[in-house]
Amino acid sequence: MSNHESKTKKSKVKISERRRFISLMAQSVGVTALGGLMWTGYLEEAKAAPLILRPPGAVPESDFLNMCIKCGQCAEACKNRDSNPDLTHQKSTLVMARPGDGMPIGTPFFKPQDIPCYMCEDIPCVPVCPTGALDEELVSVMNENNKELDINKARMGLAVVDEESCVAFWGIQCDACHRACPLLDEAITLEYRRNERTGKHAYLIPVVHSDICTGCGLCEYACITKKPAIYVLPHKIAQGEVGGHYIKGWDKKDEQRLQDVSTDTSTRTERSKLKPADYLNEGISYE
Ligand code: SF4
Ligand code: SF4
Ligand code: SF4
Repeated sequence: MSNHESKTKKSKVKISERRRFISLMAQSVGVTALGGLMWTGYLEEAKAAPLILRPPGAVPESDFLNMCIKCGQCAEACKNRDSNPDLTHQKSTLVMARPGDGMPIGTPFFKPQDIPCYMCEDIPCVPVCPTGALDEELVSVMNENNKELDINKARMGLAVVDEESCVAFWGIQCDACHRACPLLDEAITLEYRRNERTGKHAYLIPVVHSDICTGCGLCEYACITKKPAIYVLPHKIAQGEVGGHYIKGWDKKDEQRLQDVSTDTSTRTERSKLKPADYLNEGISYE
């Protein structure tokens, strides 16, 4: 091999090595970018999580995320129950979150607008949970020394009414949500109000009672408006919190809260350890 041929071969090897290096770099940048995208996707889904509706008996969300092993047994039980309106057992209330659902991936949830919870009396989705993420205690009552499952104890969320889009607030007679509710006249009642606009008609206003509503979403599913005017939200989002400073003195149950409330409302900081005179006069010269 001539000197020239040997040099040409060496430079070809260098070029092909450089190409390989550049290609590897490009691949790793691609993988990093993909990882970044996946991570961003994960964060986006995690941020959306508070809007999620969990199965009956679910423990509070932060515990749920630690306890749920994403086995899917609750969703399987929901799908395979005899009472599933989908006789082919292909669809069910509970589904496992997939990428793009905007929920923590692999965890069970339901969307009432697609398929609500039918409040099965035997609640097949709960006892199959192997970890207690779905807790039988939360959907049980004591009956003559026996503990029995009671779906009415479920608190999957709370139905709220958008007064602007609910046609009952326009004076149109509609009680679709009221009739769909399994706890009719308990979780949701109709309130009569005089229609001042016509002077001769009455409004029939749906009112949801937060202490009874299970969050099943059958009302949301039945709502006749284009986008439901009644919809279920997680309790944390649907409800405010009065705190311990206001107690209804006329309500014995509410008065009970006084015993659980700490009356010490002061904020402890590093500075609270000092006497005010120690730090208020700091740096002040009286000369
Ligand atoms: S109670 Fe609701 S979520 Fe559970 S199996 Fe029945 S329909 Fe499914
Ligand atoms: S059965 Fe329990 S652990 Fe399994 S996916 Fe459902 S909630 Fe999670
Ligand atoms: S979510 Fe709607 S249908 Fe279900 S219990 Fe509450 S008010 Fe009734």
